Amino acid sequence: MQDIYKQFENFVLQTVSVQCPECEVVFATDMLAHTPNMTKDTPVETDLHRILPHPSVRAALIAMCPACLYTNWYSSFVEDSLIPFMAVAPAEVAFSKKFAHAVLTGRKIGAHHLDRALFALNGSWCAREAGEPCEKWLELAGQELESALADDSWTGNRSRYQYIMGEICRLLGDFHGAVRHYNQVDRKSQLPKSLVDHQRQEAINGNSKPVQLPPEYVEAIFFPKPINLDELLGTTQNQTHELKSS
Ligand SMILES: [Zn+2]
Repeated sequence: MQDIYKQFENFVLQTVSVQCPECEVVFATDMLAHTPNMTKDTPVETDLHRILPHPSVRAALIAMCPACLYTNWYSSFVEDSLIPFMAVAPAEVAFSKKFAHAVLTGRKIGAHHLDRALFALNGSWCAREAGEPCEKWLELAGQELESALADDSWTGNRSRYQYIMGEICRLLGDFHGAVRHYNQVDRKSQLPKSLVDHQRQEAINGNSKPVQLPPEYVEAIFFPKPINLDELLGTTQNQTHELKSS
């Protein structure tokens, strides 16, 4: 019998059966059964993605139906009780290619440009984790993210995605585009200003290489301290309460 668990560092993949929402075929796929918690020492790059130990770990975030090629986040599939080796075998495609199918499915079902951009971005990270070139992925992610940012009805954290767009441009060597996007990042991004300034300077210096985030930035971005209202307003606890209720 095949082993249903695979481990990469402390990430655990489990082979399970799921049903395709499009064609109802039940197929076997790997899902992330355990993800180690992030700490400030978790490797993260300046485009805010966590570096994963193997491309199969990222590929397990999505599932691809081998019958109709419908591909989406794993969470959009329903688990089936059929034992995985009795189910239809998964499609044999490179890990990063699964994300290309996810972009295609996104187009087909009219998913928002942001969703499609996130699939393409994950495709670029997966390609890097597999040692493959990722320029085409970044170009695709950039196109989709530009369209998402141009959509006035979208209410996501635009400011943070302006920063991500700056990073995509910088990694593609489009330094003018990068600066233009970094300049549109404001406090709403909840990113340290020194990070945005640093990355803008990297673009001005012509650095198109990936940059790893120092632990203090990982901590500031991923483990933000609760805002201390007393400190911020110079008030006591009671006065703060009055402020909140008035
Ligand atoms: Zn299907």
